[in-house]
Amino acid sequence: MKTRIVVLGTGFGAFRFLKEAGRIPAEITVVSPRNHFVFTPLLAGTTVGTLEFRSVIESIRTACPGTAFHLAVAESLDPETKTLRCRGAFEPPGAEPFDSHYDTLIIAVGAVPHDFGIPGVREHSLFLKDVRDARAIRQKILECFERAALPKAGEEERKRLLHFVVVGGGPTGVEFAAEMHDLLHAELRRAYPELFPEVRITLLEAGKQILSAYDGTLSAYTLRHFRRQEIEVRMETAVVRVEERRLFLKDGGEIPYGCLVWATGNAPAPFVKSLPFDKDPHGRILVDDHLSVPGREGIFALGDCAASIKNPVPATAQAAEQQGLYLGRALAKRLRNRPMPPFRYRHQGMLAYIGGHSGVADLSKVKGRGFLAFLFWRSVYLTKLVSLRNKILVVLDWARTRIFGRELSRL
Ligand code: NAD
Repeated sequence: MKTRIVVLGTGFGAFRFLKEAGRIPAEITVVSPRNHFVFTPLLAGTTVGTLEFRSVIESIRTACPGTAFHLAVAESLDPETKTLRCRGAFEPPGAEPFDSHYDTLIIAVGAVPHDFGIPGVREHSLFLKDVRDARAIRQKILECFERAALPKAGEEERKRLLHFVVVGGGPTGVEFAAEMHDLLHAELRRAYPELFPEVRITLLEAGKQILSAYDGTLSAYTLRHFRRQEIEVRMETAVVRVEERRLFLKDGGEIPYGCLVWATGNAPAPFVKSLPFDKDPHGRILVDDHLSVPGREGIFALGDCAASIKNPVPATAQAAEQQGLYLGRALAKRLRNRPMPPFRYRHQGMLAYIGGHSGVADLSKVKGRGFLAFLFWRSVYLTKLVSLRNKILVVLDWARTRIFGRELSRL
């Protein structure tokens, strides 16, 4: 009988593993509440219509034929009997579960948005982790403009509705603020000329720097660039409470908003929290340098839900992708009784889009910024997109945006 591999998740790590796993003589089953892979580095562009949602996703069933797929959530794990308890993604919590048995388990469930337990964040903010989030942001932006354009909106209410606040100055927050700026100056300015002077974009960052993981010259450049673009950046400004129409700062200040995007990093998914494994201080599963969970034969973890004991890697798409590729190759060796080499992370640099056809590129030898870095950013992601279909759709979207502008209808 073929060995049974169960893969949890359809993000970067899982997807790369599945693409590599064709060579493995095994029966592979994927369990995930999402039946597609999302190319998250380009997700911010879909919030404002630079790119269409379907251009940055790839169906698992189409991309990985021959792999069994369950649209379901893994709820608990019994490592003794090698059994996963799962619930269909359409079923409510508490509905009748089903079991999935494995010989090898690959946990690649990613992470969820971190709210640091701050009251009101879950209820009132929008996140940017998935296509569903991006769609909600796009709808909300247009809702704010249409509400502000109604004759009954008073001056104070109009100003509130037209205030777009981003919390968190990491790459997610910065790239969303940049895309929002582009939408505002290219399309919204023409479509709502009477409202344009009242629109504000504000980025709130608790630390002393935005893009703090990047080279200092690039984070300083981004700050200057944002200020030139009239994106208000407030550093050392931590949000401590959120209400439906306003948020509250640690220093006692209050900020009214129309649309609030929350991008303060990652927290462990509920399934990861439930696992009886050793974790790092961020709640990620500790793995050895073969991505194996120590003392748990046949269980591997990778991507944002895992942390290496000896050689920490960043919680990024490129790290997860390298781990998925490694595990696909290493398991093929293991099943042929050949030794698995350890995983080695190769840092390829970091890129970010900062708006107005400008980018930053933090590479080991070069620190690029401006228009050339923007072109580099686009060309790297174009080559990294996972299918020819994605590549063609993304190029067409960029061309469509350039020629016709972004679509502003609220569907
Ligand atoms: P992050 O952890 O990189 O940044 C979150 C920011 O939020 C921090 O600067 C933190 O100081 C701030 N913050 C936390 N609590 C706050 C509060 N209460 N008020 C105000 N600010 C607060 O998170 P991210 O940007 O979501 O990125 C997550 C991961 O994904 C990172 O590893 C990142 O490198 C990666 N990523 C990379 C790219 C890219 O390479 N272009 C794009 C998006 C995400």
